[in-house]
Amino acid sequence: MANLTKVRPADESRILLGFDTGEEFTLSYLDLRFECPCATCVDEMTGKRTLKRETLNPGVRPTKIEPVGRYGIHIEWSDGHRTGMYHFDRLYSLVARVESKI
Ligand SMILES: [Zn+2]
Repeated sequence: MANLTKVRPADESRILLGFDTGEEFTLSYLDLRFECPCATCVDEMTGKRTLKRETLNPGVRPTKIEPVGRYGIHIEWSDGHRTGMYHFDRLYSLVARVESKI
């Protein structure tokens, strides 16, 4: 279990995520949006992603990020999508998979 300790814009297209492991990662907003785990983006029965990457605006960015308890963050997006809740564990495995450490 990794806890998110830092979340802020890294630059105009990327977010910086820091964890209590001491690791910090950057991730593009587009990747973060694409990995949205909500039921609109992922089929709940099969776990398969129904969201198509090519349908996303490449310039999509968060308009609001707020904590959910002590285990996640909720993100509202510039494309109007606002049902995505990201567990810290999921964020950690995501950045470990698609991004490199700073
Ligand atoms: Zn979603």
